Amino acid sequence: MKNRLGIYIQVPFCQTKCTYCNFHTGVVSSARFAPYVDAVCREIATHRALYAAAGVTVPETFTDAMVDTVYIGGGTPSLLDPALLNRLLNAVRTHLLTDLKEVTLEADPETITPEKACAWAHAGINRISFGVQSFSDRELAASGRMHRTADVYRSSAILRDAGITSISFDLIAGLAHQTRDTWQSSLDELAKLAPEHVSIYLLEIDEGSHLGGEVLRGGSKYSARELPKEDEMAEFYETACIFLHEAGYRHYEISNWAKPGFESQHNLKYWRREPYLGFGAGAHSFSGTERWANAHDAAAYVNALQAGRLPIEQYELLTRNGALEEELFLGLRQLDGIDLRIIESQYGVAVDARFERLGVAGLIERQGSIVRLAPNKLSVSNEVFVELMK
Ligand code: SF4
Repeated sequence: MKNRLGIYIQVPFCQTKCTYCNFHTGVVSSARFAPYVDAVCREIATHRALYAAAGVTVPETFTDAMVDTVYIGGGTPSLLDPALLNRLLNAVRTHLLTDLKEVTLEADPETITPEKACAWAHAGINRISFGVQSFSDRELAASGRMHRTADVYRSSAILRDAGITSISFDLIAGLAHQTRDTWQSSLDELAKLAPEHVSIYLLEIDEGSHLGGEVLRGGSKYSARELPKEDEMAEFYETACIFLHEAGYRHYEISNWAKPGFESQHNLKYWRREPYLGFGAGAHSFSGTERWANAHDAAAYVNALQAGRLPIEQYELLTRNGALEEELFLGLRQLDGIDLRIIESQYGVAVDARFERLGVAGLIERQGSIVRLAPNKLSVSNEVFVELMK
């Protein structure tokens, strides 16, 4: 059986900049969309030759693999004309071996029309990851989001009518003005729409974002003084864990829940350290032994492709120790945990002792050689990982 491969395609354009956003995305004229898609199609068509010319040796098992998942993320890829998205998917089908099982598009609720949704389904997109973030219009407005709750209801119905049977909602815990009541109401509204998958992220205040800059300055713009405290955010997360469990979702990764059979097959590859290839500005790739990333700047990325150059700006050949650290860190993000016996035999090192201290501190729980994050420590997983890496 051929190795499986995931494809990630980055579309780094948005309509506006959300106040908390620290991604490399730009608000640009729609006239730049088609040249960008041309460049990505060119990268897909010529990536093997570009790697060879740059001396990057990618294992054959990787380049010959069967693509079974595609994830088009951003940014806001749903802004693109469906014909451009279709071109991206056709480039994948033409230049790689494919047996596509899951094709995900990230979409913002206000960008969805019946025509677009039908065109997406026709192009083979079978999963929509929806940037809902909150069901409170006040929180959405304060975060600089373009959509409102009514758009989520309207666009969910459009997607269902178009035959999309796998929908994921993103919610953010920690938005300005969020309270215990508004958070519970967001969970209640989400349950009414019954998406197959849910992702919940804790808001990270990055100093590179508008909001982060304002927090650092001690100002009040972007509702910077209305942010929930860290312990409230942890409480929101824990409320969601209980609520989603009772609503029939399986918690399978720190930030992700799914109805049975609707786990994100593409994202599982990241946590399981399976290979994926990223195309587009800032996209990351992983061959099993190497990681590399394309230039973040969309114009620099397009220029490199137009000049026939590999658009890479970072490359790393993983050491054995680096790979082991990833195995532990990414493995523990999954609620099934990791099997220390398998990891020890794979890497030829003893790791058991590293977990003894964490077990005594109540940060992890053990069942034979299986180790998992303790259920009451999921909201502070970063602290557990820091302890593990000491
Ligand atoms: S839609 Fe997403 S990528 Fe775009 S600005 Fe908002 S948070 Fe950033």
